[in-house]
Amino acid sequence: MTDYEVIVIGCGPAGMMACGELARRGIKVLGIDKKPRLDVNIRTASGYCFLDQPFNGEWIRRTPKDDKTVLEYTDTGFTVVYNGTMEGIHHSHMFSDTGKHWQASTRKKPFYHIFNPHQCHKDRFEWAQKMGASFMPGTVFMNVTQSESRVEVKVRQNGKDRYLTCKKLIAADGLVSKVAKVTGANKARTNFGMKGPTIEYELSGVECPYDRGDMFFFGSGNFGGRAGGIIMVPSCHGEGVYRMETMSVLPASTATDLIEFFTKKSPFAHWFKHAEIIEVSGVVIEFLSPMIVPYLGNILFAGDSAAFGECLYQCAVMCGYKAAECVQKELEGKKGYDEYTQWWGDHFEWVRNPKRMADYTKRVLFPRFFTVKELDFLFDLSEKNPIVVDEADASPYDFTKMVMEQFMAMPEVPEELKQRMQFIIDADMAQVAQVVGKVQKA
Ligand SMILES: Cc1cc2nc3c(=O)[nH]c(=O)nc-3n(C[C@H](O)[C@H](O)[C@H](O)COP(=O)(O)OP(=O)(O)OC[C@H]3O[C@@H](n4cnc5c(N)ncnc54)[C@H](O)[C@@H]3O)c2cc1C
Repeated sequence: MTDYEVIVIGCGPAGMMACGELARRGIKVLGIDKKPRLDVNIRTASGYCFLDQPFNGEWIRRTPKDDKTVLEYTDTGFTVVYNGTMEGIHHSHMFSDTGKHWQASTRKKPFYHIFNPHQCHKDRFEWAQKMGASFMPGTVFMNVTQSESRVEVKVRQNGKDRYLTCKKLIAADGLVSKVAKVTGANKARTNFGMKGPTIEYELSGVECPYDRGDMFFFGSGNFGGRAGGIIMVPSCHGEGVYRMETMSVLPASTATDLIEFFTKKSPFAHWFKHAEIIEVSGVVIEFLSPMIVPYLGNILFAGDSAAFGECLYQCAVMCGYKAAECVQKELEGKKGYDEYTQWWGDHFEWVRNPKRMADYTKRVLFPRFFTVKELDFLFDLSEKNPIVVDEADASPYDFTKMVMEQFMAMPEVPEELKQRMQFIIDADMAQVAQVVGKVQKA
């Protein structure tokens, strides 16, 4: 006998979906999370999602229904209801060290939609409770041991250790997964050494003179000589409200310095003269190569705990659903974990194709592929040749390729730059590092 059939460590998008879906299937499940409240999102997330287009082997069909949105995962085969509307974003901007501006816009299909991560958490939590899942908030996972037929989990609650048992465990404890650490499941993964903090401010009253869209700011000139960058994404809370996240280096205090300098002293500070902080959140990001086989004995790793970088909210949810389906099969004596492994590799492109890890990082590394002078030259050119298309692939995998190809089509761009852009499009992780190193020395 075990206390539960399944225990889920971590009730973020992946874990919460798994809890609700397991309970819906009549399985006795417990969700454990260190957060005291499970209906709120404290992890930094800008709130963009890629719908009505192929992304990570899935096609999520969006159907607005009054003040709700129905999201149908047409490949994995389930539907969730989001209790809110989603806004399509048609503009994307970049600003160089010297304040030069680049913009791309779509006429018909938005680059992506924005949603409210708090609302998603609340929706999923209420649904999972309704389905009969049990939860232990404010409880920290400490350790795990397993035999062939059972798993024992050590947790800490109110300063006291507790031991709980189950037949199957889902580790959905996110990017820096402790379950993966203590079980040795990360041993085969490559650590790319790209660890850094990010702080996110949600600000209202931002007086931004550009079309509503995401904005990438980079260059030490905008940050008082500090290394890093800022991504500003329109918030679901409406006009003049933006979520701003830093791309920063350790120690974590540098992230706060970066955003404080940018909003108070940078050339863009006047946009924030009347701005108010609505919310602050943060997270430390670490890049490991993905797990190729995301299970170990009775433990299945779902969502970011097994991922390269991030699954994104929408795909963490689908991991949670699939994890529940496959754990049920395991409980019935079938090869559910092998099915999950196949699905994981079929859906997340970086599992089987290491180059897609590199592609995923190219958007945030974009400014580091060029010198300040080269960027200013390119951005000036794009002001003369505005990039306006009906639709474009703005997913993290292919956004940089799309931008590079737009530049490569401009006759004024010298051959050497075109060749570098083609090299960057084709580059794997090692080659990306090589280009960044060369440009920095230039
Ligand atoms: C700066 C930034 C911006 C982002 N923006 C977006 C965006 O705009 N759109 C998007 O879709 N995605 C975005 N993401 C990615 C997205 O947030 C993640 O991919 C998603 O949250 C992963 O879900 P998950 O359930 O796998 O893990 P998580 O969301 O990380 O959830 C893990 C859960 O486990 C709990 N936990 C961790 N350790 C323990 C422990 N020891 N004991 C108990 N509980 C524990 C945590 O409290 C948490 O609730 C962003 C990420 C970052 C870093």
